[in-house]
Amino acid sequence: MALLTLTGVTKRFGGVVANSAISFQVPRGQIVGLIGPNGAGKSTLFDVVTGYYRPDAGRVAFAGHDLVGLRPDQVNRLGIGRTFQKLRPFREMTLLENVMVAVMGHTPHAAAARAEALTYLEFVGLAAKAPVHARDLSTGQRKRLELARAMATRPRLLMLDEVTGGVDQPTIPGLVALIGNLRERGLTLVVIEHNMRVIMALADRIVALHLGEVIADGPPAEVVRDRRLIEAYLGGAYAQGA
Ligand code: ADP
Ligand code: MG
Repeated sequence: MALLTLTGVTKRFGGVVANSAISFQVPRGQIVGLIGPNGAGKSTLFDVVTGYYRPDAGRVAFAGHDLVGLRPDQVNRLGIGRTFQKLRPFREMTLLENVMVAVMGHTPHAAAARAEALTYLEFVGLAAKAPVHARDLSTGQRKRLELARAMATRPRLLMLDEVTGGVDQPTIPGLVALIGNLRERGLTLVVIEHNMRVIMALADRIVALHLGEVIADGPPAEVVRDRRLIEAYLGGAYAQGA
């Protein structure tokens, strides 16, 4: 049973067709990897699903709800959390305050919100830094904070936009383990990711976009052998097992 179903989703910016009749499903409890070259339309698709853009055509169904026309806060309340490719923490607030802001969307009582916020900071390994200002974090730590903030909205589906992008190589395995733990907790995930090692380690299914269109969709081992995908994105190196 799919938790999220996209049917013919199309989004244009003037003459640019960022998403062209995109259809695929996200099965409950799985991790779907969304891959493709820069400009393929991945982030735009996240914006369409989460209510930041209204598609020009197509349907987005989530757990029995039609999402088209809903605002981001309404989509979030139905159970979809997300992170952004460009991080947006409140830099002058502490980590605890950053997460509390998200928790207070559903738990207005400050003491309860504080306690719940701490559980998310613990989960992402940042509890010791709760009183630190967000501006003082490394990129890898900021990615973890972003995960904690997304979890704080209590989603059933989490959409992560390039969580390992721009972080140091040594911090990547920790982030990968964290994402795997989210699935263990019962969350369903869609992850945009350029690092093929990360995708192969995490994804139950891969959807590949190119020029706004789905060019491959299936189990990772099959998708990485797809000729169109190799030509458009993976190149020779990955195909040879590098
Ligand atoms: P990806 O995340 O796969 O790199 P994007 O979804 O960011 O790709 O972009 C897909 C296409 O849509 C690109 O051609 C990009 O330039 C264009 N695009 C994205 N957002 C906008 C916008 N707000 N206005 C105009 N064009 C946009
Ligand atoms: Mg993007």
